[in-house]
Amino acid sequence: MAGEFERIRRYFLPLSQPPADPPAQVGNGDDALAVRSDETIVMSVDTAVAGTHFPPDASAEEVATKALRSALSDLAAMGARPWFYTLSLVVPKSYPDHWWQQFAVTLQAENRHWQFPCLGGDTTTGDTLVVTVQVHGLCERPLTRSGAAAGQNIWLVGQTGEAAAGLAALLRGDDPESTLRQAFYQPQPPVRLMAALQPWIESAIDISDGLVADLGHIARASDCDMSLQVDRVPLSNVLVQSVGLVRARELALSGGEDYTTVLTAWPEHDHRIMELVVRHGCCISRIGQVADLKGEAATVTMTLDGEPYLISQRGYDHFG
Ligand code: ADP
Ligand code: MG
Repeated sequence: MAGEFERIRRYFLPLSQPPADPPAQVGNGDDALAVRSDETIVMSVDTAVAGTHFPPDASAEEVATKALRSALSDLAAMGARPWFYTLSLVVPKSYPDHWWQQFAVTLQAENRHWQFPCLGGDTTTGDTLVVTVQVHGLCERPLTRSGAAAGQNIWLVGQTGEAAAGLAALLRGDDPESTLRQAFYQPQPPVRLMAALQPWIESAIDISDGLVADLGHIARASDCDMSLQVDRVPLSNVLVQSVGLVRARELALSGGEDYTTVLTAWPEHDHRIMELVVRHGCCISRIGQVADLKGEAATVTMTLDGEPYLISQRGYDHFG
């Protein structure tokens, strides 16, 4: 088995490709990284623990894509362009060389796909696999959760529910349909789209806890009510076929793990938004409106075909 330094040299130093734009002043392999940018720097860190955030038997490839893309999702929601990330790993001693190899090869492909190099990190051993990804992005004007105001439209990028259905199957010990498995392990955060949409958007959040729960975070941060038209929330065919319409709707609203973005924007930008979405080959749905705060606390109210709609379950079932 390779020693620690050999492992870092072989697997992690090559992850500094493709080069960061703008480039680092001091890149990976030194005591610390040094970077400089004229733009605002957006940073977010996420930790994923085996058995808590993903099943303990997930493959190296699945862990790598899930950890990196769920972290990238925060940059998407801020409207930031990915710049570089750093990677901290706790890996049990029992993990074989081919696990490291598979993990690093997957990240190399991810780096190319997102134009997102890894410029530093730390590697140590412990009882449980822990992957911490700190992402860094650049933007002119970071989007926040507090920019929503009455009269704005609520838009959902892509669709929700498949990842939660995939996770539910994994938790039952079933082998989920490949689309659902991929939705959980290989989410598609709308990174490039959100960077392009940013000038036309007032607030955004990435969907990790569930559409309604995360929309609630915007509502509270913005002191607004949200009115959601459930019939406008898109449902994938695969999802409906595998769990039925009623459950599909519940998962789309409150499943979580989607790592897409929900946002608000003024109606005069509707056309611009749809045009940019089409140009990026993505989908977007206008699912509701922001309203003035009526009571003491911000709420998300829902209708289905004009009738009030209540959901029993909010948030999602974590691992035990
Ligand atoms: P230090 O003792 O200064 O923490 P390390 O021996 O931990 O240095 O790491 C040596 C170099 O390898 C550092 O520049 C660090 O950024 C890089 N490195 C270590 N682990 C990783 C990793 N998981 N991903 C990327 N780079 C890493
Ligand atoms: Mg170290």
